[in-house]
Amino acid sequence: PPPTSLTTESLTPAAISLEEPESSTRMRAAIVGLVRNSDLFGLRMAMRQIEDRFNRRYNYPYIFVNDVPFTDEFKKGIRDMTKAKVQFGTLDHESWKVPEWINATRYEQVKRDARYPHGEKDSYRKMCRFQSGYLHRHPLLRDIDYYWRIEPDVEYYCDIEYDPFAFMHNNGFKYGWNIAMTEFMDTIPTLWNTTVEFVNSHPEMLATNSLWEWLVDANGDYNGCHFWSNFEIVDLSFYRSSQYQAYFDYLDRSGGFFYERWGDAPVHSIAAALFLNATQIHYFDDIGYFHPSVVSCPANSRFSGKCVCDESKSFVQNGYCIVRFKAIKQMLLNPNSTESVHE
Ligand code: GDP
Ligand code: MN
Repeated sequence: PPPTSLTTESLTPAAISLEEPESSTRMRAAIVGLVRNSDLFGLRMAMRQIEDRFNRRYNYPYIFVNDVPFTDEFKKGIRDMTKAKVQFGTLDHESWKVPEWINATRYEQVKRDARYPHGEKDSYRKMCRFQSGYLHRHPLLRDIDYYWRIEPDVEYYCDIEYDPFAFMHNNGFKYGWNIAMTEFMDTIPTLWNTTVEFVNSHPEMLATNSLWEWLVDANGDYNGCHFWSNFEIVDLSFYRSSQYQAYFDYLDRSGGFFYERWGDAPVHSIAAALFLNATQIHYFDDIGYFHPSVVSCPANSRFSGKCVCDESKSFVQNGYCIVRFKAIKQMLLNPNSTESVHE
């Protein structure tokens, strides 16, 4: 028999309860994903890592949405991963359709001719349109102010020892990202021109200290830089603003989600870079992350700290878009500095 002095209390080290944040400090926030039933394994892997690296201490709820009903197997498999609340929802037809102003003949031809990733797919385009314009308006997200996007097959390589939602709030950040790179330009031939048309008719929407310069090359054309939206932590008041909504509606009307294959990543990113101030956009360079096929490690994380992150595979932070982001943001914060970002 166990020694009588060993009470249940002494089996619960104080350190464990100290790790739990005060419930009052918890934000109205959730970890959110649009996913398929077939993503069960990959999503369980992603959740296992988010739970171990962060959420077992914070218990933020999860919200998953799908264009078809989730199976019981899926719901059980996901609920088994966490003690946090999990909600499952389906989308309405309005948010997952080819709009009536899309010409069917032209669209079919586009899908036949497309020579870029997912170019032949109807579902991928609906997915991108949904994540651009509808996810933040889904009824299950009504009571949350921030979301952290999750996708199947992503990995988290480092402990996250603070609450990124509270961090965003306390610093006035509206958009947080951790991977940026250039887009396949074949998927967005007219996105930039359509954006410029929109901004020309709504010049008051441009933020005073926007990062627009980050988006353009020496000729004033879009350089393709965008934040990867498979990881993004966002103050949803940004996407829910009348400005963002007007921008999305304008893009949607132009048909580019279907006649081309506009991704939600460049759409979100261009909106953030134009309509937010640079000070409202945060680079989470401390979050070790993987989305097939890109690794992003914090500096010096291979042999130190609470990371298992292979820096020898992490190149993206030295790439054009991230180096340029840091330089331009720095310049906007210190306008008197002599450094120039012009090529
Ligand atoms: P990638 O990251 O651009 O390669 O695209 P993914 O295949 O990872 O898709 C992005 C996200 O949208 C993932 O969370 C997918 O599960 C989800 N997704 C993609 N297509 C569909 C679809 O047809 N239905 C649903 N419900 N989710 C989808
Ligand atoms: Mn993905």
